[in-house]
Amino acid sequence: MISKVLIANRGEIALRVLRACKELGIATVAVHSTADADAMHVRLADESVCIGPPPSRESYLNIHQIVAACEITGADAVHPGYGFLSENAKFAEILDAHGITFIGPTAEHIRIMGDKITAKQTAQELGIPVVPGSDGEVKPENALEVARKIGFPVLIKATAGGGGRGMKVAKTEADLEEAVSTARSEALAAFGNDAVYMEKYLGKPRHIEIQVVGDGMGNAVHLGERDCSLQRRHQKVWEEANSPALNVEQRMKIGQVCADAMKKLKYRGAGTVEFLYENGEFYFIEMNTRLQVEHPITEAITGIDLVHEQIRVASGAGLSVTQEDIVFSGHAIECRINAEDPRTFVPSPGTITHFHAPGGLGVRVDSGAYQGYKIPPYYDSLIGKLIVHGRTRVECMMRLRRVLDEFVIDGIKTTLPLFQDLIGNQDIANGDYDIHWLENYLASTTDA
Ligand code: ADP
Repeated sequence: MISKVLIANRGEIALRVLRACKELGIATVAVHSTADADAMHVRLADESVCIGPPPSRESYLNIHQIVAACEITGADAVHPGYGFLSENAKFAEILDAHGITFIGPTAEHIRIMGDKITAKQTAQELGIPVVPGSDGEVKPENALEVARKIGFPVLIKATAGGGGRGMKVAKTEADLEEAVSTARSEALAAFGNDAVYMEKYLGKPRHIEIQVVGDGMGNAVHLGERDCSLQRRHQKVWEEANSPALNVEQRMKIGQVCADAMKKLKYRGAGTVEFLYENGEFYFIEMNTRLQVEHPITEAITGIDLVHEQIRVASGAGLSVTQEDIVFSGHAIECRINAEDPRTFVPSPGTITHFHAPGGLGVRVDSGAYQGYKIPPYYDSLIGKLIVHGRTRVECMMRLRRVLDEFVIDGIKTTLPLFQDLIGNQDIANGDYDIHWLENYLASTTDA
């Protein structure tokens, strides 16, 4: 059994994990950089350890310091949250070697899914539908032949990709050479690996992802989908569950495909299988072997605490639910609140002079922010997540409108006004949007 968890993260997700541990009667250790000494997760944890100076690579990414913090405090497990070391196979192995439980999948599964070509091949072997594309890596010499076979437009993607970097579209044969060479040099610069592969470029897809949890012993369930099509620069901004584009049969069908694949893989922990969805077809793009930022909307419609499940399966206790137990109820929307200018998206760190979180039925705010909190400039700008649940999508939207009016964060700029704009938009009201919608909308409102 797990008795003390070290939370190797910061911000809202550190707090989220801490809450789950407290509910399960598990002691908590917060680690923090010198810039985060006043953070809420540090204040609420049973113990805390300073692991280094502000830059992430010297603190939240410093494996030696984190292992040392486990040894000093006697933590027998580590929850990595998302980002930082959450998808670092070597970290999982090192913890294992020290007899510390990594609350996540095996190092092998992290590795398979961390390499895009291997991930895609594995997905295909497991019966998951994938985007038509090259068999593995594409070299400049054979790019044209491969592209002709797939059919233009094509997308060149970095094998080691992440965050949308190293990705280039070639609309026609004339664009191909340049797209391949730019993608390769971007990939080399960003990931130290210039390997690229090729996929059919989908014009107007939605981003739909399936939440799965496996027990590592061959049992796995799915918790339905999330629609994360509203993105800016490949960063998700607004997510909803269920997707306005799917009906029950489609949901249960693709969900079952993913759950069956996880059973075959003997996957352990929470994971997300990401798809592009166009004209009724799903196309696998990647799998994230960790908890996602947007997991609370799944929790809202299923009532299942995903961090509880992660801790259970990591300790070998198995899942608390079977597929038949999982009932989808109502609709949930998450708005990511970033400390950014809502027009330019330039980060806006600083001191929060006034903070009032909304409340009432169906409202959840996951945030480490509070009045007087000074947002450090060193980390990503997500300062909180607003999650609203209603019995129907219409009720959820009505509630969101009310809740956005109630939320006050003063002293810094935030993306709250963007959501106030979106809530009044007809396409959003209709659920009628694809992955390009938000950028087009932002471009059109800037020109006006
Ligand atoms: P990353 O790991 O860099 O985020 P992904 O494979 O998850 O890369 O893709 C990121 C985003 O790029 C997707 O959410 C989608 O917007 C776009 N994208 C990826 N593959 C395709 C494709 N084949 N056609 C069209 N857009 C794509």
